[in-house]
Amino acid sequence: MPGYEPFLLCDFHVHTTWSDGRLSIREVVDLYGRTGRFDVIAITDHILTQKDVLGRAGRMISLGLKHFSVTEQRFAAYMAEIAAEAERARALYDLLVIPGAEVTQNHIRAHRNAHIVALNLTDYISADQPAEDILREIRRQGGLSIACHPHHRTTRRLEIATSYLWDHRKRLIDLVDVWEAANRDDLFSVTSLKHFPYVANSDFHKPKHLYSWKTLVRCEKQWDAIASTLRENVGVALTLYRNGSWAA
Ligand code: ZN
Ligand code: ZN
Repeated sequence: MPGYEPFLLCDFHVHTTWSDGRLSIREVVDLYGRTGRFDVIAITDHILTQKDVLGRAGRMISLGLKHFSVTEQRFAAYMAEIAAEAERARALYDLLVIPGAEVTQNHIRAHRNAHIVALNLTDYISADQPAEDILREIRRQGGLSIACHPHHRTTRRLEIATSYLWDHRKRLIDLVDVWEAANRDDLFSVTSLKHFPYVANSDFHKPKHLYSWKTLVRCEKQWDAIASTLRENVGVALTLYRNGSWAA
């Protein structure tokens, strides 16, 4: 896209109304597409555990009208809508849209929490299994895994610390494809200190999150090239995508 050649400007972590995002998939595509800057986005709505406390509370507050999770029953419809919007996005904006999900484990005790983005997945993945098995299932499907906000220990509204993958990194290093070195406005320098493969994502939930850390990838605009470049982690850079000026 203009200004970033030969890099692709990418956001691999975007939520929509299929879980707790504010915009529909179509609205997200139009928001990113109309900037004239983005090359790649991934739709990654939450798949929650059966017992997820936050999902149930949210559903109660919204009187059951809002969904906070892509369930197994809704998964095929979710994938079909992403596929239809991906076709429209490529034709209209030359924007590549990748199907994904954030397999989300929230427990009362934060050190057990893991949020794993699965990119280019084809089948439903239950959050009700050990993180190791989720990572293996992503590999089996030929997808790519991202350890999300792995060093996030502060409390955001309806978001709790997720340190399981980081705390067990020695055991999981071969199962995790890339780690988020930046999520929205936060930089996790520990990820880069370990020289792990990294990405930066917005964790988009509402329009203002467009302006946040993003990934630049130097390769062709197609999934296989992007996946191998992310894994090799050469020709990958972080950029803070801003709203015109830094003071805005
Ligand atoms: Zn998350
Ligand atoms: Zn997220």
